[in-house]
Amino acid sequence: MPFTIAIDGPAASGKGTIARALAARFGFGHLDTGLLYRAVGARGGDPVRAARNLTPDDLGRPGLRSAEAGQAASRVAAIPEVRAALVEFQRRFAAGEPGAILDGRDIGTVICPDADVKLFVIADDLTRARRRAAELGADEGEMLAQLRERDARDSARATAPLRPAGDAVTLDTTALSIDEAVDAAVAAVEQAMAARG
Ligand code: C5P
Repeated sequence: MPFTIAIDGPAASGKGTIARALAARFGFGHLDTGLLYRAVGARGGDPVRAARNLTPDDLGRPGLRSAEAGQAASRVAAIPEVRAALVEFQRRFAAGEPGAILDGRDIGTVICPDADVKLFVIADDLTRARRRAAELGADEGEMLAQLRERDARDSARATAPLRPAGDAVTLDTTALSIDEAVDAAVAAVEQAMAARG
């Protein structure tokens, strides 16, 4: 049985950084599921058709990391048929040996409800806006407004809203360095590995 790690949380909370570090540390595959929704939003046209016909090439498109692509992703991510079209791909990835890490919004609640470890990564709004502004070379105030808009839409949608699974461990990265956040995540994973034997 592969070992599955589900990492959810709002934008710029640090979940992607933690996921990449865990993947390197444990030799697991890593899927940034936000990229799937970004690719669907960026294709334009009918989003349901785009989700059903998504190819690996779509995930390599330039510009997918931009703030605009994030906003477009969050709009198409509210469409139930778009989400349904992406479930199988994510579950197949999660079944990869020896283990897999998926980060997103609904991994612990919908995609991998039986994950071995579920982390819900959070940080306060200003810290997240500052991080995103530094990453994209953008204005902090603008990033704050965009993050709040996106979080509100992701949390309020009817299908697979952003929320922690009942058995998720919350990790607040506001006051943590990257190394401290990764160490806390590694400790949670090692504990679950030891429990599984
Ligand atoms: O994580 P990232 O910022 O790249 O996600 C972009 C958008 O994709 C999110 O704001 C959210 O609307 C959507 N998303 C989602 N479910 C996921 C991952 C991302 O709805 N598992």
